[in-house]
Amino acid sequence: MRRPLIAGNWKMNTDRSSGTDLASAIAGRAGDAGDVDLLVCPPSVYLASVKESLGSAEVALGGQNMYHEASGAFTGETSADMLKDVGCKYVILGHSERRHVMGESDSDVNKKTLAALDAGLIPVVCVGELLEEREAGNTAAVIKAQFEGSLAGLTADQMAKTVVAYEPVWAIGTGKVASPEQAEEVHADLRSLIADSYNAETAEQVRILYGGSVKPGNAAELLGQDNIDGALIGGASLKADDFLAIAAAG
Ligand code: PGA
Repeated sequence: MRRPLIAGNWKMNTDRSSGTDLASAIAGRAGDAGDVDLLVCPPSVYLASVKESLGSAEVALGGQNMYHEASGAFTGETSADMLKDVGCKYVILGHSERRHVMGESDSDVNKKTLAALDAGLIPVVCVGELLEEREAGNTAAVIKAQFEGSLAGLTADQMAKTVVAYEPVWAIGTGKVASPEQAEEVHADLRSLIADSYNAETAEQVRILYGGSVKPGNAAELLGQDNIDGALIGGASLKADDFLAIAAAG
């Protein structure tokens, strides 16, 4: 069955010293995490240093974003091959902060997703509704549109490898976590969308993570839902104890 993925999204936090300390602390105790895959996604300038601190521990490295072109005159951007070159296995794409602060569209996220897969990176593609969209009863429609727009044109094999993260925007960094039932409902919808667009076997393989105020105290209940296959963690991933406690709940 699906092996849970516990992913830390450090966002624009840490500096080289605190980032490498955090990576070393996680690496040192990664063996206690149980039957889960661990992933840390530091700021891009610290990827190489964090990779070094992770050493041979079973903790994967991921980028927080990338550009879809392979190389060239794209000032300030990072390509999939560059992420791979410094040791990344994963890349987070379409995080709500990229969508809502930087203005990324589903079409941007789609181009990045296809480029990441072509380069051999595993994309962690985020979707999630705003509070007003939930209150207007539009959650399912918003998730469907983001799913179809961001994940267009993948083969079934590519879809099976891709990780989807459901992150309700109103739950990110707010301390307001979706209830396990609210999250499970959207996760089950996402799995049905995958089954409808591809097939049931592919849908069974895709890991769908929940993100939004995941903490050690709420992780077990969320991760205990049938269709929740891991967590994408912001704030709580900046403390090794909290991150590993969430992993232990997986
Ligand atoms: P949070 O962030 O855990 O701080 O709510 C989650 C995310 O944005 O990935």
